[in-house]
Amino acid sequence: MTKKRILIWYRNDLRLHDCEPLYNALEQKAQIIPFYCFDSRDYGKTSYGFPKTGSYRAQFIIESVTDLRNSLQQLSSNLIIRQGLPEIVIPEIVKQLKIDLVYYHEEVTTEELAVETELDKLGVDLVAFWGATLHHIDDLPFEISNTPEIYTQFRKQVEKSSIVNPPFPPPKTLPQLPEIEPGAIPKIAELGLEPPVYDERAALHFQGGESAGKARLEQYLWQENLLKDYKQTRNKMLGADYSSKFSPWLARGCLSPRYIYEKVQKYERERVKNDSTYWLIFELRWRDYFRFICSKHGNKVFYQSGIKGLDIDWKEDWERFTLWQAGKTGFPLVDANMREISATGFMSNRGRQNVASFLTKNLGINWQMGAEWFESLLIDYDVCSNWGNWNYVAGVGNDARGFRFFNIIKQSKDYDPEGKYLRHWLPELASLPAKKIHEPWQLSREEQSKFGVILGVDYPQPVVNLFKSAKANEKIYNAAANKVD
Ligand SMILES: Cc1cc2nc3c(=O)[nH]c(=O)nc-3n(C[C@H](O)[C@H](O)[C@H](O)COP(=O)(O)OP(=O)(O)OC[C@H]3O[C@@H](n4cnc5c(N)ncnc54)[C@H](O)[C@@H]3O)c2cc1C
Repeated sequence: MTKKRILIWYRNDLRLHDCEPLYNALEQKAQIIPFYCFDSRDYGKTSYGFPKTGSYRAQFIIESVTDLRNSLQQLSSNLIIRQGLPEIVIPEIVKQLKIDLVYYHEEVTTEELAVETELDKLGVDLVAFWGATLHHIDDLPFEISNTPEIYTQFRKQVEKSSIVNPPFPPPKTLPQLPEIEPGAIPKIAELGLEPPVYDERAALHFQGGESAGKARLEQYLWQENLLKDYKQTRNKMLGADYSSKFSPWLARGCLSPRYIYEKVQKYERERVKNDSTYWLIFELRWRDYFRFICSKHGNKVFYQSGIKGLDIDWKEDWERFTLWQAGKTGFPLVDANMREISATGFMSNRGRQNVASFLTKNLGINWQMGAEWFESLLIDYDVCSNWGNWNYVAGVGNDARGFRFFNIIKQSKDYDPEGKYLRHWLPELASLPAKKIHEPWQLSREEQSKFGVILGVDYPQPVVNLFKSAKANEKIYNAAANKVD
């Protein structure tokens, strides 16, 4: 009997561990052909004209694919690599190698689903697996269409009535490939991008791949024992260790959330079980939540009116948007974070919430412009987490509490009391003492010359009044909300 031939179509699941398509194909003793396609659409432009995948993430993807290929080669297989459109390339390979089935991890959002649909239409025999979340979709205590809108309700229900399955083990060996040209891993220039310039001020140098992801997990939990204090440190903004930094590896599937869960359980048995170990899993459930919410609401998460369907009169003020992008709004917390993301492709969760709130609730600028800018830059860009969080912060998602905005000044003082983070990213404010750095617009003329920070010259005057602008945008928001109620 001839062996079945199965193509393992790798997407955002660039790993050997906890990879059900691979595991399942191996169980069937099939001939396995691992495959990855650099989808040319991912290297185009967003609707506002930003590179859809910026160079930090592109480099991370190249490294992740390289690592996966190396791991597969060590098991006497290989990763077949192509550039183009999966719905064109896959049918060609299927025909060439007489492949019986294509196994893959399914996605939930439009562009990804469109590729699956197209392949199906072309008559490719597809088998989809669910693998991106902590809780398997089949183990949810509700139908997707009934996913609770509020995170707390979602979390309580899954904590009470769902399970987390153990990860699938990685293969020990793999069958050799049939005769086929393996294909080269593209250089970043071939994707139309400049190589990223690494800034030594970056929180972490994110190296793509399953090996580096596992190494970061090992470091965060075991070598440096940082997990035990995660709940207390997670809201900080400076350095490698205040939060896990697992997100880039999770987003590209180099780390599976179930694998992390298993290691956290081990840590709880062998080191300590406390509110910090609980909280890391709590955050991973946020990630699950956004994926299930996106699955429930389909395209709505990308619409300007968001999940809530709020028709808010957003501005497309490019002049102010450019100041926000460049970190020149005159609000140090916003500016430091925006410079960090531009220089490194990463920003803390605290930073993301503040800059997103500022763009939408103070500048009143269309949140989709911000979401696309993040999509372009973030190493850890995850379609559901990014668009879901932007919906949430902009007030068009499933936050039940109406118009809320971050008091940037208070946040700055609370989370960076000594101004260390601000000084790290805003060298022009380095001479300011902690008391002065959060609100430089309050510097007197004498202080400006004493500290060498001339407002409007060395550092911008604030682009808006924080509270007045929030009040004005609250009116606009409420006008839209009242129409819906
Ligand atoms: C406007 C905005 C956009 C965002 N875009 C993305 C994105 O594209 N990709 C992304 O992975 N996260 C996104 N987040 C969520 C969050 O900011 C990052 O996951 C987190 O900062 C990553 O750092 P970490 O791995 O050290 O997080 P940790 O604090 O160590 O958390 C552990 C993991 O939990 C998950 N997680 C934590 N917070 C959230 C959250 N609010 N939503 C979803 N998952 C969460 C992540 O997978 C993270 O790696 C966004 C948040 C905001 C406010």
